[in-house]
Amino acid sequence: MTPGRDAPRPGRLEAPVTEASAAFWEATRGRRLVLPWCVDCGQAFWFPREVCPHCLGSVIEWREASGRGVVYAATVEHRPQMLGAVFGDDPYVIALVELDEGVRMMTNVVGCPPGDVSVGMAVEVTWEPMSDGRHLVLFQPVAGTSAHE
Ligand code: ZN
Repeated sequence: MTPGRDAPRPGRLEAPVTEASAAFWEATRGRRLVLPWCVDCGQAFWFPREVCPHCLGSVIEWREASGRGVVYAATVEHRPQMLGAVFGDDPYVIALVELDEGVRMMTNVVGCPPGDVSVGMAVEVTWEPMSDGRHLVLFQPVAGTSAHE
């Protein structure tokens, strides 16, 4: 279980729900991570869209994801001090996480010091509440593992 944060983060930008992403966002209300899969070629893709980026197929089905992956790339963002009152001034990690399903998702890695995040680190999904009941998909190190495992 990954409890995640309890409350929405002040100042967090919240993505709009589009027709293509509605099923994804709906699942996050129950802290479920789902991905769009193309029925024609049998591959997952990210981000949600009307047409498969691999084969241009348009029959899309949503499947539950494992919620596990590895850090593909990461950078530490140091927040400008002048905006600290709005966003807080803790550095945070922007990462590209490659999920078990083969898709890469731009996200934040939380739950450890930013400097500890490295390429190849095993991560799992965790959740941050949004103001409207949806949840943001974030990742944290898999408990009991270390980088490059
Ligand atoms: Zn396809």
